[in-house]
Amino acid sequence: MNPDETLTLALSKGRIFDETLPLLRAAGIEVLEDPQTSRRLILPTNRPGVRVVLVRATDVPTYVEHGGADLGVCGKDTLIEHAAAWGGAHVGLLEPLDLGIARCRMSVAVPADFDYARAVRQGARLRVATKYVAIAREFFASKGVHVDLIKLYGSMELAPLTGLADAIVDLVSTGNTLKANRLVEVERIMDISSRLVVRPTALKVKGGLIRPLLQAFAAAVRADAD
Ligand code: AMP
Repeated sequence: MNPDETLTLALSKGRIFDETLPLLRAAGIEVLEDPQTSRRLILPTNRPGVRVVLVRATDVPTYVEHGGADLGVCGKDTLIEHAAAWGGAHVGLLEPLDLGIARCRMSVAVPADFDYARAVRQGARLRVATKYVAIAREFFASKGVHVDLIKLYGSMELAPLTGLADAIVDLVSTGNTLKANRLVEVERIMDISSRLVVRPTALKVKGGLIRPLLQAFAAAVRADAD
Protein backbone atom coordinates (compact mmCIF):
# COMPACT_ATOMS: atom_id res chain seq x y z
CA MET A 1 0.00 0.00 0.00
CA ASN A 2 1.22 3.50 -0.84
CA PRO A 3 2.42 5.06 2.47
CA ASP A 4 0.46 8.21 1.59
CA GLU A 5 -2.71 6.10 1.80
CA THR A 6 -2.05 4.82 5.31
CA LEU A 7 -2.94 6.55 8.54
CA THR A 8 -1.48 5.89 11.97
CA LEU A 9 -3.24 7.17 15.07
CA ALA A 10 -1.34 7.27 18.40
CA LEU A 11 -3.39 6.61 21.52
CA SER A 12 -2.58 5.77 25.12
CA LYS A 13 -4.23 2.84 26.86
CA GLY A 14 -6.99 3.50 29.38
CA ARG A 15 -9.33 6.43 29.48
CA ILE A 16 -8.11 8.11 26.30
CA PHE A 17 -8.29 4.87 24.29
CA ASP A 18 -11.73 4.00 25.68
CA GLU A 19 -13.18 7.46 25.09
CA THR A 20 -11.69 7.77 21.58
CA LEU A 21 -13.34 4.51 20.41
CA PRO A 22 -16.84 6.01 20.02
CA LEU A 23 -15.35 8.90 18.01
CA LEU A 24 -13.56 6.45 15.73
CA ARG A 25 -16.79 4.49 15.40
CA ALA A 26 -18.57 7.68 14.36
CA ALA A 27 -15.96 7.98 11.61
CA GLY A 28 -16.64 4.38 10.52
CA ILE A 29 -13.48 3.00 12.10
CA GLU A 30 -13.55 -0.09 14.35
CA VAL A 31 -10.41 -1.12 16.20
CA LEU A 32 -10.15 -4.88 15.72
CA GLU A 33 -8.21 -5.78 18.86
CA ASP A 34 -8.77 -5.03 22.52
CA PRO A 35 -5.65 -3.66 24.24
CA GLN A 36 -6.89 -5.19 27.52
CA THR A 37 -6.44 -8.69 26.15
CA SER A 38 -3.90 -8.21 23.36
CA ARG A 39 -0.22 -7.52 23.95
CA ARG A 40 0.19 -6.00 20.52
CA LEU A 41 1.12 -2.36 20.30
CA ILE A 42 -0.08 -1.92 16.72
CA LEU A 43 -3.79 -2.53 16.40
CA PRO A 44 -5.47 -3.03 13.03
CA THR A 45 -8.82 -1.49 12.19
CA ASN A 46 -11.61 -2.42 9.79
CA ARG A 47 -10.20 0.18 7.37
CA PRO A 48 -7.21 -1.19 5.48
CA GLY A 49 -4.36 1.26 5.92
CA VAL A 50 -5.71 2.76 9.15
CA ARG A 51 -4.04 1.55 12.33
CA VAL A 52 -3.73 2.52 15.97
CA VAL A 53 -0.44 2.51 17.85
CA LEU A 54 -0.45 2.31 21.64
CA VAL A 55 2.11 4.55 23.32
CA ARG A 56 2.52 6.21 26.70
CA ALA A 57 0.37 9.32 27.03
CA THR A 58 3.44 11.54 27.35
CA ASP A 59 4.92 10.04 24.16
CA VAL A 60 1.90 10.83 21.94
CA PRO A 61 3.14 14.33 20.94
CA THR A 62 6.60 12.95 20.15
CA TYR A 63 5.23 10.16 17.96
CA VAL A 64 3.06 12.56 16.00
CA GLU A 65 5.68 15.28 15.71
CA HIS A 66 8.41 12.96 14.45
CA GLY A 67 6.35 10.82 12.12
CA GLY A 68 5.81 7.63 14.16
CA ALA A 69 2.12 8.47 13.84
CA ASP A 70 0.18 10.94 11.71
CA LEU A 71 -2.21 12.02 14.40
CA GLY A 72 -2.88 11.32 18.03
CA VAL A 73 -5.00 12.06 21.06
CA CYS A 74 -3.58 13.43 24.29
CA GLY A 75 -4.46 15.65 27.21
CA LYS A 76 -3.93 19.40 27.13
CA ASP A 77 -1.66 18.92 30.18
CA THR A 78 0.60 16.63 28.16
CA LEU A 79 0.73 19.12 25.29
CA ILE A 80 1.66 22.03 27.56
CA GLU A 81 4.39 20.03 29.30
CA HIS A 82 5.71 18.70 25.98
CA ALA A 83 5.95 22.20 24.51
CA ALA A 84 7.68 23.53 27.64
CA ALA A 85 10.19 20.67 27.60
CA TRP A 86 11.29 21.89 24.18
CA GLY A 87 11.79 25.49 25.24
CA GLY A 88 8.27 26.66 24.52
CA ALA A 89 9.26 27.21 20.89
CA HIS A 90 7.41 24.13 19.84
CA VAL A 91 5.50 24.49 16.57
CA GLY A 92 5.59 20.93 15.27
CA LEU A 93 1.98 20.03 16.03
CA LEU A 94 -1.44 21.22 14.99
CA GLU A 95 -4.21 20.97 17.55
CA PRO A 96 -7.34 21.21 15.42
CA LEU A 97 -9.92 19.77 17.80
CA ASP A 98 -10.83 19.70 21.47
CA LEU A 99 -12.39 16.24 21.73
CA GLY A 100 -13.92 17.02 25.13
CA ILE A 101 -12.92 13.59 26.43
CA ALA A 102 -10.92 12.50 29.51
CA ARG A 103 -12.08 15.68 31.17
CA CYS A 104 -10.54 16.64 34.47
CA ARG A 105 -8.88 19.63 36.09
CA MET A 106 -5.37 20.57 37.13
CA SER A 107 -5.43 21.60 40.78
CA VAL A 108 -3.34 22.42 43.80
CA ALA A 109 -4.03 20.22 46.83
CA VAL A 110 -2.68 20.24 50.38
CA PRO A 111 -3.19 18.20 53.55
CA ALA A 112 -6.46 19.11 55.27
CA ASP A 113 -4.57 20.63 58.22
CA PHE A 114 -2.27 22.84 56.12
CA ASP A 115 -3.37 26.50 56.00
CA TYR A 116 -2.57 27.19 52.36
CA ALA A 117 -4.25 30.62 52.22
CA ARG A 118 -2.23 31.77 55.21
CA ALA A 119 1.04 30.43 53.81
CA VAL A 120 0.40 32.29 50.56
CA ARG A 121 -0.59 35.49 52.42
CA GLN A 122 2.57 35.35 54.48
CA GLY A 123 4.74 34.86 51.41
CA ALA A 124 6.01 31.49 52.59
CA ARG A 125 8.12 29.46 50.20
CA LEU A 126 6.11 26.35 49.31
CA ARG A 127 7.48 22.96 48.40
CA VAL A 128 5.30 21.66 45.60
CA ALA A 129 5.53 18.11 44.24
CA THR A 130 4.26 17.49 40.73
CA LYS A 131 4.69 15.75 37.42
CA TYR A 132 3.48 18.94 35.74
CA VAL A 133 6.36 21.31 36.44
CA ALA A 134 5.73 23.73 33.57
CA ILE A 135 2.07 24.22 34.48
CA ALA A 136 2.91 24.55 38.20
CA ARG A 137 5.79 26.98 37.57
CA GLU A 138 3.65 29.23 35.37
CA PHE A 139 0.72 29.14 37.79
CA PHE A 140 2.66 30.03 40.94
CA ALA A 141 4.73 32.65 39.08
CA SER A 142 1.50 34.31 37.93
CA LYS A 143 0.36 34.44 41.56
CA GLY A 144 3.72 35.71 42.79
CA VAL A 145 4.10 32.69 45.08
CA HIS A 146 7.63 31.38 45.62
CA VAL A 147 7.88 27.64 45.18
CA ASP A 148 10.46 24.89 45.17
CA LEU A 149 9.21 22.43 42.59
CA ILE A 150 9.86 18.75 43.20
CA LYS A 151 9.47 16.63 40.08
CA LEU A 152 7.74 13.30 40.57
CA TYR A 153 6.55 10.74 38.00
CA GLY A 154 3.58 9.35 39.93
CA SER A 155 1.69 9.02 43.21
CA MET A 156 1.90 12.74 43.91
CA GLU A 157 -0.56 12.34 46.81
CA LEU A 158 2.14 10.62 48.80
CA ALA A 159 4.46 13.64 48.85
CA PRO A 160 2.67 15.78 51.48
CA LEU A 161 1.89 12.69 53.58
CA THR A 162 5.58 11.84 53.90
CA GLY A 163 6.86 15.37 54.44
CA LEU A 164 8.39 15.59 50.97
CA ALA A 165 6.22 18.57 50.00
CA ASP A 166 3.67 21.05 51.36
CA ALA A 167 1.42 20.82 48.34
CA ILE A 168 0.90 18.95 45.08
CA VAL A 169 -0.23 19.92 41.61
CA ASP A 170 -2.12 17.05 39.99
CA LEU A 171 -5.07 16.09 37.83
CA VAL A 172 -8.34 15.72 39.67
CA SER A 173 -11.39 14.03 38.26
CA THR A 174 -13.85 12.79 40.90
CA GLY A 175 -11.72 14.00 43.82
CA ASN A 176 -11.76 10.50 45.34
CA THR A 177 -7.97 10.09 45.26
CA LEU A 178 -7.48 13.35 47.15
CA LYS A 179 -10.16 12.44 49.68
CA ALA A 180 -8.70 8.97 50.27
CA ASN A 181 -5.38 10.61 51.12
CA ARG A 182 -6.87 13.40 53.26
CA LEU A 183 -5.90 16.10 50.81
CA VAL A 184 -8.07 19.07 49.88
CA GLU A 185 -8.19 20.99 46.63
CA VAL A 186 -7.26 24.64 47.26
CA GLU A 187 -6.78 26.00 43.73
CA ARG A 188 -8.18 25.03 40.38
CA ILE A 189 -5.47 25.87 37.84
CA MET A 190 -7.20 24.90 34.60
CA ASP A 191 -9.74 22.58 33.05
CA ILE A 192 -8.19 19.78 31.01
CA SER A 193 -9.55 17.72 28.14
CA SER A 194 -7.98 15.65 25.38
CA ARG A 195 -7.09 17.11 22.02
CA LEU A 196 -6.57 15.71 18.58
CA VAL A 197 -3.06 16.53 17.39
CA VAL A 198 -1.82 16.29 13.82
CA ARG A 199 1.56 16.73 12.17
CA PRO A 200 1.29 19.58 9.65
CA THR A 201 3.09 17.65 6.91
CA ALA A 202 0.75 14.67 7.42
CA LEU A 203 -2.22 16.97 6.93
CA LYS A 204 -0.63 18.29 3.76
CA VAL A 205 0.25 14.90 2.29
CA LYS A 206 -2.70 12.89 3.61
CA GLY A 207 -5.35 15.59 3.81
CA GLY A 208 -7.74 13.41 1.80
CA LEU A 209 -7.67 10.82 4.59
CA ILE A 210 -7.33 13.12 7.59
CA ARG A 211 -9.92 15.81 6.79
CA PRO A 212 -12.95 13.48 6.66
CA LEU A 213 -11.77 11.98 9.94
CA LEU A 214 -11.54 15.44 11.51
CA GLN A 215 -15.02 16.28 10.25
CA ALA A 216 -16.50 13.04 11.63
CA PHE A 217 -14.79 13.60 14.98
CA ALA A 218 -15.99 17.21 15.12
CA ALA A 219 -19.58 16.15 14.33
CA ALA A 220 -19.46 13.42 17.01
CA VAL A 221 -18.07 15.89 19.57
CA ARG A 222 -20.84 18.40 18.72
CA ALA A 223 -23.51 15.70 18.95
CA ASP A 224 -22.15 14.66 22.35
CA ALA A 225 -22.25 18.27 23.60
CA ASP A 226 -25.94 18.70 22.62
P1 AMP B 1 -9.90 11.09 40.83
O1 AMP B 1 -9.66 10.22 42.05
O2 AMP B 1 -11.09 10.64 40.02
O3 AMP B 1 -9.98 12.56 41.19
O4 AMP B 1 -8.66 10.89 39.86
C1 AMP B 1 -7.42 11.37 40.24
C2 AMP B 1 -6.31 10.46 39.81
O5 AMP B 1 -6.48 10.03 38.48
C3 AMP B 1 -4.98 11.20 39.87
O6 AMP B 1 -3.96 10.28 40.18
C4 AMP B 1 -4.84 11.74 38.48
O7 AMP B 1 -3.47 11.89 38.14
C5 AMP B 1 -5.55 10.71 37.62
N1 AMP B 1 -6.37 11.33 36.56
C6 AMP B 1 -7.61 11.84 36.70
N2 AMP B 1 -8.08 12.27 35.53
C7 AMP B 1 -7.13 12.02 34.62
C8 AMP B 1 -7.02 12.23 33.21
N3 AMP B 1 -7.98 12.80 32.50
N4 AMP B 1 -5.87 11.86 32.60
C9 AMP B 1 -4.88 11.29 33.32
N5 AMP B 1 -4.92 11.07 34.63
C10 AMP B 1 -6.02 11.41 35.28
